[in-house]
Amino acid sequence: VLYMGMPESSTVTTCAYCGVGCSFKAEMKGEEVVRMVPYKDGKANRGHSCVKGRFAYGYTTHKDRILNPMIRDKITDPWREVSWEEAFAHVANEFRRIQYQYGKGAIGGITSSRCTNEETYLVQKLIRQGFGNNNVDTCARVCHSPTGYGLKTTFGTSAGTQDFDSVEHTDVAMIIGANPTDGHPVFASRLKKRLRQGAKLIVLDPRRIDIVRQPHVEAAHHLPLKPGTNVAVLTALAHVIVAESLFDEAFIRERCDWSEFEDYAAFVSAPHHSPEEVEKVSGVPAETIRAAARLYATGGNAAIYYGLGVTEHSQGSTTVMAIANLAMLTGNIGRPGVGVNPLRGQNNVQGACDMGSFPHELPGYRHMSDDATRDIFEAVWKVTLDPEPGLRIPNMLDAAVEGSFKGIYVQGEDILQSDPNTTHVAAGLEAMECVVVHDLFLNETANYAHVFLPGSTFLEKDGTFTNAERRINRVRKVMAPKNGLADWEVTQRLGHAMGLSWNYTHPSQVMDEIARTTPSFAGVTYDLLDREGSVQWPCNEKAPLGTPVMHIDGFVRGKGKFIRTEYVATDERSGPRFPLLLTTGRILSQYNVGAQTRRTANVEWHKEDRLEIHPHDAEQRGLRDDDWVKIRSRAGETTLRALVTDRVAPGVVYTTFHHPDTQANVVTTEYSDWATNCPEYKVTAVQVSPSNGP
Ligand code: SF4
Repeated sequence: VLYMGMPESSTVTTCAYCGVGCSFKAEMKGEEVVRMVPYKDGKANRGHSCVKGRFAYGYTTHKDRILNPMIRDKITDPWREVSWEEAFAHVANEFRRIQYQYGKGAIGGITSSRCTNEETYLVQKLIRQGFGNNNVDTCARVCHSPTGYGLKTTFGTSAGTQDFDSVEHTDVAMIIGANPTDGHPVFASRLKKRLRQGAKLIVLDPRRIDIVRQPHVEAAHHLPLKPGTNVAVLTALAHVIVAESLFDEAFIRERCDWSEFEDYAAFVSAPHHSPEEVEKVSGVPAETIRAAARLYATGGNAAIYYGLGVTEHSQGSTTVMAIANLAMLTGNIGRPGVGVNPLRGQNNVQGACDMGSFPHELPGYRHMSDDATRDIFEAVWKVTLDPEPGLRIPNMLDAAVEGSFKGIYVQGEDILQSDPNTTHVAAGLEAMECVVVHDLFLNETANYAHVFLPGSTFLEKDGTFTNAERRINRVRKVMAPKNGLADWEVTQRLGHAMGLSWNYTHPSQVMDEIARTTPSFAGVTYDLLDREGSVQWPCNEKAPLGTPVMHIDGFVRGKGKFIRTEYVATDERSGPRFPLLLTTGRILSQYNVGAQTRRTANVEWHKEDRLEIHPHDAEQRGLRDDDWVKIRSRAGETTLRALVTDRVAPGVVYTTFHHPDTQANVVTTEYSDWATNCPEYKVTAVQVSPSNGP
């Protein structure tokens, strides 16, 4: 129920859910938020919002919030409330004991794409400076890490190339493996407005997602590809563009290496990349592939927007590079209305990646092995850094099961519910001697924790989030942290307990350090953000007010790089035992593992995860709407209710993962992207059968 009274005060801040990064006025009565009102001057949302953001405050005061630190010796023991001092001392003692006993590399940490830039910067600094290793990772590992690899390889930096306003200049929008209506609702509204004005749409997705079902969209441009065949279809699009000489020769000669292009053109021209051959693999009719390729190459300004349906595959990084190839091939990069635009899932996944939350990179996407970069941080942090990359999340879990990794600090992530192959994640956590969970609620991962540090919500702290268009937005504290300490203060106090002498008194000082050490943030200050509302990085001497469109005069790496993108079928195949392919995603009213949205009014709109199944497959199994079904894969099984719909193609089933009682990731497997280990959530071979319920 929306509050209809008069608020006493309001503060402008940024939504903490998806990567659109909408600005809101948090309206207060006394010490409580009573209403979130979309902020008309917000540059990402222009006064709009979605139903998630409007109710994104109820969880702050939810009874389930844990407000005091807790410890226990064994995970079967009851929790015991302790003071902050006792909790920090306990963690520091345990982590130092583990390092003494098992070695420096036996501990690590996970930063959160839900927390601010300043908080994630401090966590990676704690690990590099305080733990003395590079065992730091972020949940981008399981979503957009292939974007990092793919765009850095082809363009030289890992970021979306355009701002959201750019969609107003787009003539052709190609959406690949994303469902903006549910995942990025405010951006979806802007895109739909542009489509109503006459822009054309191409959609590569196994499901008939909402935007395909809009009356003004031509069905011919929906490419309903079989899960796992993105690379084959994208390379076939390039095949058509080269075969019909629809490429932009002038752009390629000026902005790319011509001999690399010739090699790439010869590669895509091979007969097995033809639409007819790819139809056999992907199920997309050859003529639909040809029509989409012609439209993308000749329809005017063409922009690509993509999501986790691109990255969460064993060829996730290859798919990102295939997308970049298409943009360079047609000259659709470096001006408004075009480009390659990853739609980031979480509010600060872009920022967490920018802030060096990866085991191989320091802030600003600079590799640990780069001497000049290490020199900068060593001078500021007064420490010697290890040039060798540390462990990724899956490596940490594997090492835990093998016995060499014993302690972890998990900030703002529920890896048990969100990471693939739940059984393996649980085994890894169970094998550790000190699991520290820093979060708002006792989430699923906390079942395996020895220490729980209560977290603060976005309403209780200052900082910044960076959205999908590289826009750095201010997060402003509207109330005192109910747990007593903002998350950046928790990390600082943990650092003190481990012997570090940090003395930040406000997150703006952390941003000042980021600006000193990271060239793309060199011009960013809280004063600038307050004055301008927000800025998009790079923001430095060359671009004092930020950079809405990247790669205008040249790519960050110099020449754009074409990459051969050979399709390799995933090892996860359907067959007689597991005849259907499961893919997963989100729904509009819920957010990720639902820890927050399930504790707000949003839960009324989506109370359970359902399994979408095509009428043909349902009939074969004697299933009707609402029937209980069991889904089983090589990794595990779970039970949920069926939703019979032709949104999914025959042979494909789909579910969301917002509710812990479903545990959808019990069935997802260990396969992952070859370059980054991003899990292959989007392709799991399963069997589906009637069930009597959980
Ligand atoms: Fe905006 Fe995303 Fe928040 Fe919705 S969830 S209000 S689209 S930032």
